[in-house]
Amino acid sequence: MESQIKVHVMHTGKVKVDRALPYKELDVVPPVHAREEAYRMWLPISSYLIEHPDGNIVVDAGWHEDVRTKAQAHLGAAASFVEYELPAGWSIKEQLAARQLLPSDIDIVIISHLDVDHISGLSLLKGARSFWVSEPELANAKPHKLAWYGELPVQTFTYESIPYGPNKRGRDIFGDGKIYLVDTPGHTPGQLSVLIRLRAGWLLLASDTGYTGRSLEELILPGITTDERQAVQSLQWVKAFSESADCVGVLLNHDPAIVPATYS
Ligand SMILES: [Zn+2]
Repeated sequence: MESQIKVHVMHTGKVKVDRALPYKELDVVPPVHAREEAYRMWLPISSYLIEHPDGNIVVDAGWHEDVRTKAQAHLGAAASFVEYELPAGWSIKEQLAARQLLPSDIDIVIISHLDVDHISGLSLLKGARSFWVSEPELANAKPHKLAWYGELPVQTFTYESIPYGPNKRGRDIFGDGKIYLVDTPGHTPGQLSVLIRLRAGWLLLASDTGYTGRSLEELILPGITTDERQAVQSLQWVKAFSESADCVGVLLNHDPAIVPATYS
């Protein structure tokens, strides 16, 4: 009998932002307090635990526990750009512990992209075997981001041709056609989505290619893009994939409609 792949969806923080961040409507996204309350939105931050017969994978790390007590020191300039919350029991480390898992039980930590809400908590996973980020993402990382992962064994991987994605390139992690990293750039230079084969079809973890169901329906780009043409191609591919017959779900990292759950 084939071993079952499971995907656990966790919320590893909340972030309050100006709505121009999820929905591009201004040339420059303002800090959360620049406009009145009606323009602000709370969004969840997601991380994922993928159980595969050949290893455990975590995708993205959410907020570090330091945002509870020393946010200014931990977040730096980002501390005034957004509001943040990490409720008790929500950190990636706490949620793995609740499943009787230590960081050393994690084989690969996938970093979808190097934005603070995805990497702040990375050092909570110290002890994991490896940390993967794409080459274009690491090559374009701003030096201040090193503070969040500088001491971790972060490595890049080489893209291969794969059957999926706007550029048909990515990585078949275990070489069995079950879990693909998919190049979906545009929000950042090397943003990755993760495509997982479950019993009934494909589940796509689409990172920040779009923010909510409305982003997909109306093809609304994220407020921050490093390459708008690539961002459009990535969002269009995610939308088309979501409509394909063997897609069982698309999970956008910050979609308020997503609730923690286990898919198999
Ligand atoms: Zn994000």
